[in-house]
Amino acid sequence: MLVEFADVSKVYGREIVALDCINLVIEKGEFIFITGPSGAGKTTLLKLIYMDEFPSKGEVRVGDYSSSTIHGKDIAMLRRKVGVVFQDFRLIPDLSAFENVAIALRAAGKKAADIRKRANIVLHSVGLSAKRHQLPPKLSGGEQQRTAIARAIALRPSLLLADEPTGNLDPDTALGIFDLLVDINRAGTTVVVATHDLRHAERLGKRVVRLDAGRLVSDEGGK
Ligand code: ADP
Repeated sequence: MLVEFADVSKVYGREIVALDCINLVIEKGEFIFITGPSGAGKTTLLKLIYMDEFPSKGEVRVGDYSSSTIHGKDIAMLRRKVGVVFQDFRLIPDLSAFENVAIALRAAGKKAADIRKRANIVLHSVGLSAKRHQLPPKLSGGEQQRTAIARAIALRPSLLLADEPTGNLDPDTALGIFDLLVDINRAGTTVVVATHDLRHAERLGKRVVRLDAGRLVSDEGGK
């Protein structure tokens, strides 16, 4: 799915300009970092992509959907094609890793046998087969994030968004999470990662878009 921001501004309330006239195209299959200091607008940019927020001006297009015309049911359809992971994992603490993944598949109307099969496959692909019956509080931070990633990719989204996915993790664990995101990208999913930590972007040699106070100040690297 192609993502396109056309002259997008986002103002919260009367005067908090979170994004200021952003023009950006993210091609299908890309891996892109959105960086910038705290408050730069990174989370807002991601929220506009999964249409949790809407532009105050301009238009966001995601695949066939447009922020100007999308409504109701289509937002739910879009969300099935866009996986999201967060800094704080957002797992359900009293459900096992397996159940956390299964619930996403169940919500999309999958059949029980397919749910079991798919949940096991994605948990295996993130390296969590052995721990799939553990509750999140019994898992390490890295394992919790792997579970959240498994849940996010369970429905084979075209696009995976990650908002500071390693913000709660130590540097070694963070490395593993970024390598996993790169693997997911290689398998064909477009990946957009918001992070204030530039080291990984540099190490991986990917495209980096830098925001500062809501403005897009640079767009470098990648292919
Ligand atoms: P980042 O992810 O780069 O830290 P954000 O997108 O979270 O940046 O925030 C950009 C700006 O918008 C900040 O000034 C922040 O305080 C403000 N902001 C974010 N969300 C809201 C909101 N729901 N209501 C009001 N202001 C907000």
